[in-house]
Amino acid sequence: QFEKSGLLQDLPKQFFASLVAKVNAITEQGHDVINLGQGNPDQPTPEHIVKSLQSAAEKTINHKYSPFRGHQYLKDAAAVFYEREYGVKLDPNSEVAILFGGKAGLVELPQCLLNPGDTILVPDPGYPDYLSGVVLAQAKTELMPLTEENDFLPKYDDIHKEVLDKAKMMFLNYPNNPTGASATESFFDETVSFAKEYSICVVHDFAYGAIGFDGKKPISFLQAEGAKDVGVEIYTLSKTYNMAGWRVGFAVGNKSVIEALELLQDHLYVSLFPAIQEAAASALLDSQTCVGQLVQMYEGRRNVFIEGLKAIGWDVKAPAASFFAWLKVPEGFTSESFADYLLTHAHVAVAAGNGFGEFGEGYVRVGLLTSEERLQEAVERIRTLNLF
Ligand code: PLP
Repeated sequence: QFEKSGLLQDLPKQFFASLVAKVNAITEQGHDVINLGQGNPDQPTPEHIVKSLQSAAEKTINHKYSPFRGHQYLKDAAAVFYEREYGVKLDPNSEVAILFGGKAGLVELPQCLLNPGDTILVPDPGYPDYLSGVVLAQAKTELMPLTEENDFLPKYDDIHKEVLDKAKMMFLNYPNNPTGASATESFFDETVSFAKEYSICVVHDFAYGAIGFDGKKPISFLQAEGAKDVGVEIYTLSKTYNMAGWRVGFAVGNKSVIEALELLQDHLYVSLFPAIQEAAASALLDSQTCVGQLVQMYEGRRNVFIEGLKAIGWDVKAPAASFFAWLKVPEGFTSESFADYLLTHAHVAVAAGNGFGEFGEGYVRVGLLTSEERLQEAVERIRTLNLF
């Protein structure tokens, strides 16, 4: 029996483990749980992408090691994708790094840019894995509260001067997990000036970059003037193309940050299975009809669920983007007691908001990751609890 290193012992507890255990326990009792707790897309990868993987897997050239930093055709495809979707021009040789999914880049970046004791600004509530990278880098977290009153955007004016003088890096994430908020152009412009003033490297997590509702396509941080001077954006194919299990994404933007990321990765891995790289390139370059259909599907689910909850008297707000709804818990409950109550009495699993940080207390997160019929059924089960 060997003891884990101090670093590993400091890592935050994996947030979803306890939810999975609770859901399994109820399911084992024979109950049909509607699981809206996790963020795993429920639809398959579009067929043309799977076909592309199949034929690429047959080419023996793809059975060899990939170049350490990935194949040029995938970097080129990422650049074509960014210009086509966001009007952002990228040099595929120096402004794109291939990642084993967005999570890898997010966890690696603090280790690329921070020294032990350095300060990093992290949104709260936020995607829990930001904190894992910070622990591995032995850096210090300063939380930026995201509140409903400020449309779930951080208020830079509220951050103390001493913190700003020490901060070297910052995470942002829009469309936002867990709140479903999206960013505005003016917020990204403000972010660029703020980052320039305090020499902070911005890491914008654009995992839900394809999913915006009511005809509003989410904006890329790199669309803001000067953004490439101050940071990078992390893109993943997990949500846009239902490819969460494939583990493929990329970082784009500031050359020095991309270089640091690739240097660290040279020492960690050889890049992705080449057939996955080929299929990922075709996902980015081929017809995007599947993406339009995906957005329409999530918007339909959002409408059914939110309208349903309003009809039973729960005063909820519709998310602008992402596939999450962020709902205020009824009076008398905490995030956790409400999530437990729903699971025990309605067999509906949701994620307690405090799992995303202290400012997530008072909310639950619902993933719109099942059919409209199942979402309607969830609303019906909640109605019978007579809470509203
Ligand atoms: N960022 C956010 C906000 C997420 O919600 C997720 C996945 O749930 C990721 C990043 C990581 O995605 P992946 O590692 O599959 O690319």
